[in-house]
Amino acid sequence: MRPGTYGLVAALSDDELPAYVYDLPDLRDHVRTIRAALPGRVELLYAAKANSDPLILRTLAEHVHGFEVASGGELDHVRAIVPGAPIAFGGPGKTQQELTRALDAGVERLHIESEHELRLFATLLGGRTVDVLLRVNLPVDVGRVALAMGGGPFGMDPVQLDRCLEVMASVPGIRLRGLHFHLASGLQAQPQLLLVDKVLAWAENWARVRGVDLREVNVGGGMGVDYTHPPRVFDWPALGAGLRRILTRHPHLTLRIEPGRSVTAYCGWYVSQVLDIKFSRGHAFAVLRGGTHHLRTPAAKQHDQPFEVIPDDTWPWPWNRPEVRDEPVTLVGQLCTPKDVLASRIMTERLRVGDRVAFAMAGAYAWNISHHAFLMHPHPTFHHLAAATDGPPVAGDTYARQTS
Ligand SMILES: *Cc1c(COP(=O)(O)O)cnc(C)c1O
Repeated sequence: MRPGTYGLVAALSDDELPAYVYDLPDLRDHVRTIRAALPGRVELLYAAKANSDPLILRTLAEHVHGFEVASGGELDHVRAIVPGAPIAFGGPGKTQQELTRALDAGVERLHIESEHELRLFATLLGGRTVDVLLRVNLPVDVGRVALAMGGGPFGMDPVQLDRCLEVMASVPGIRLRGLHFHLASGLQAQPQLLLVDKVLAWAENWARVRGVDLREVNVGGGMGVDYTHPPRVFDWPALGAGLRRILTRHPHLTLRIEPGRSVTAYCGWYVSQVLDIKFSRGHAFAVLRGGTHHLRTPAAKQHDQPFEVIPDDTWPWPWNRPEVRDEPVTLVGQLCTPKDVLASRIMTERLRVGDRVAFAMAGAYAWNISHHAFLMHPHPTFHHLAAATDGPPVAGDTYARQTS
């Protein structure tokens, strides 16, 4: 945890816990690094579903080409928060209302997921013109990955693309710019490059055979985030160098990527506090404020969420302070379910009732995928370390404490 974040976390009152703390200068530096690693012909979009916190979106807006949204709700939200930013609207099962909204909002791209969706969309155009990508469910081997997206309900099998070409031939307002792929999640740079290579070769060949003027290919997101080794971040320089090589074989293409998790995971902290410590059948448990109804990530991905202990030496009670020392401890939340586990049997030097625990890598698919209503506990408070100044953040630097 950087000193500025630590300062903010330490300054929170107990009543403000659990809290989400977003380190915006860290996010800004990270997205700058990503952008700098990519060739100019790669357009970087951020997949808003990973975390659509308004200040996160505003921080990213200066460094990304635009935003990928996957629902009418995200579309409205992103439009309101960053009004001028280009939007690509994708996702399965778009309703007629959402498609109409996309037209009215003037989205930059629509990612078409099926022939039916394309036909429905064509009826709503009303003389307008829209640039679309067809999403392809290409049967490629993506190896052992965290989440394979191909072969499911996303996009179309290649044979269905021809049906779409027939539909579009009679609807001049729909301009086909290219193809969209999001085939796997959790890939490191080298497997990601192999996949991009295959996808682009396939796309160019498909376009040549059909006589399609292929301008753009979006290869999706899914850049890996390693929760078991937090410092091992996705190798953006390797991806950038590889893409540069691959793109020399595709001189007329613009490539798009739309990562989510790998952009915002690292900037977020979920800060809690130990409420109780108990030993049950030989195992130590620390019961924390909040739990997986605020931070569902470890339950959803079946991992131990990495954390830092922030000791708090105040102890107002006349009895001995419960603690664990030099032994594995399981960190659980306040929910009445054995599944409410944030980290399991982690070796810990010392953890006491009252100490704070800051869970790292809580900036993506964290609060926004959690089941907040379960058990009706209060919601966390939200705080942002401000990205107002452009220089490197200093310990004890000014920070904004925006509670929402
Ligand atoms: C979820 C999603 C992304 C972002 O995936 P990450 O794993 O968060 O990088 C990008 N594109 C599409 C179509 C998605 O569904």
